[in-house]
Amino acid sequence: MDTLTGMSIQHVPVLIVGSSMVGMTLSVLLAKHGLEGCMTVEKHASTAIHPRAAYFHPRSMEIYCELGVYDEMLAESARLYDSNAGIYDLESLAGKYIQTWLGNINEGIENVSPVTRTFLTQHMFEPILRRYSEKNGVDLQFSTELVSFQQDSSGVTAIVRSTETGEKRIVHAKYMVACDGNRSPGKAGPDLVEKTYHDERYPVGKKTVAQVFERYIRRTAPELKAAATQLEDEVPEPYIELGYRYHSAALMTDELGGVLENPQRATCRPGSHAPHVLISLNGEDGVPIANLFRGTYTLLLGSDASGWEDAARELDMDKTLPEIRRHRVHGDAFYSRYGLSQRGAALVRPDGFVAWCDWQGPAPGTNAVTLLADVMLKILCRVPHASSNTSPSELTVNTPSLSSALFAREKQLFAQKLELQKQMDRIDTEIADLRRMDELQNETALLALRLMPAEEKPPGYSYSECLRKKEAERVTLAAVA
Ligand SMILES: Cc1cc2nc3c(=O)[nH]c(=O)nc-3n(C[C@H](O)[C@H](O)[C@H](O)COP(=O)(O)OP(=O)(O)OC[C@H]3O[C@@H](n4cnc5c(N)ncnc54)[C@H](O)[C@@H]3O)c2cc1C
Repeated sequence: MDTLTGMSIQHVPVLIVGSSMVGMTLSVLLAKHGLEGCMTVEKHASTAIHPRAAYFHPRSMEIYCELGVYDEMLAESARLYDSNAGIYDLESLAGKYIQTWLGNINEGIENVSPVTRTFLTQHMFEPILRRYSEKNGVDLQFSTELVSFQQDSSGVTAIVRSTETGEKRIVHAKYMVACDGNRSPGKAGPDLVEKTYHDERYPVGKKTVAQVFERYIRRTAPELKAAATQLEDEVPEPYIELGYRYHSAALMTDELGGVLENPQRATCRPGSHAPHVLISLNGEDGVPIANLFRGTYTLLLGSDASGWEDAARELDMDKTLPEIRRHRVHGDAFYSRYGLSQRGAALVRPDGFVAWCDWQGPAPGTNAVTLLADVMLKILCRVPHASSNTSPSELTVNTPSLSSALFAREKQLFAQKLELQKQMDRIDTEIADLRRMDELQNETALLALRLMPAEEKPPGYSYSECLRKKEAERVTLAAVA
């Protein structure tokens, strides 16, 4: 009880303001990662009633897959939408086709993620998250509004009010996260997620927004092109969704390489989304490797990487470090996607991003235990480091020049592909128009024959026989095409 105001005080580790998609997702993720007793307040009485946001990118779907709501999202989406729909320009729903932006929403990500892109509107999705939250004991308080807050070195003291009764309460939280939409005043709390969050997310977010803006101008508002001074060249969607690479003190990255790379070519360079391959796990084949990464750090080991395996086993004794799950992976697909030798190892964070790797195995004379412990302390930001790979290899050193040359060539080919795609679209439209004209001519001719006085009709004429012949011709032509 607060002696000045007489209001009750509740202490929580994290107060989340807003329980729409972002707030609820954060609430369930915190609970999933073992942070108990967090509180989420939402001023509305329930979940969204308007469709609004609708299109889920693969990285979001990977996170929902980890939460266990992926199948339910797909099933809900399938009630209304085609799971492989595309994006097209048409004059109107019944009008002329203009061009294709994306023939199939899952184009380009088949081999880089275990999930699909998904179309599911906000008011269909939020009830799924709400059910999941309630089933897992997440404290969601609807009809509860944040009125004001103050921050000091101990955390945040907030006043929340019931929108039904007007009753106010004080909540003290170590951290408060604002998930209250685009007019949010921001997050608050001492030194929140700051060592690495900005370095990792900001360049990726900036790049993503620049690419979205470029598409908006080109697809929807070409009249603004002259005013938009810094339009980027377009890069393919999969680069933006799964090919971004983090650089921060929580990763043993080299300083090289861009923010966006081709996820089809990804290896296990630190900072990258760990490449997708199917592995055998607990006697089951065809399991996405991402299933291994849940909940803690995972050391992926080549079949002959006993040096790193022993080191990780020894680090188990150190209870100040998080658990390092060890997994030996076999199969050509793994080696070719990860670029490791059989003695190599890669350390993957619980979010599925590679934190460190050693391509070749520890060099003779290396103390693998000390080295791995040092890596852990650095990526946990317990000791400073100059963000450089502890064991640079030929592959790492060669990557930048190779990468930039390939990237430039790939961009060039991508531009050519777009141009060819447009030409093909124009050809398709012309063919479709010609076929329609041909059909019209046929129909007109048949109609004329039908209306002809019987004495003028060609001998042996039968209207249904003519129709049958025309249909047979059409089927043959379509088969040839
Ligand atoms: C009309 C419209 C159409 C849209 N169409 C699309 C679309 O087609 N595709 C697409 O991808 N996106 C679309 N969007 C954008 C999309 O809705 C947002 O990007 C998405 O909702 C952001 O989610 P969020 O959880 O961050 O915030 P929001 O969904 O805005 O949720 C914020 C929550 O915080 C709560 N809140 C605010 N202040 C307080 C407070 N003081 N105390 C307690 N709770 C509070 C609000 O009630 C709300 O529930 C559209 C948005 C609008 C408005």
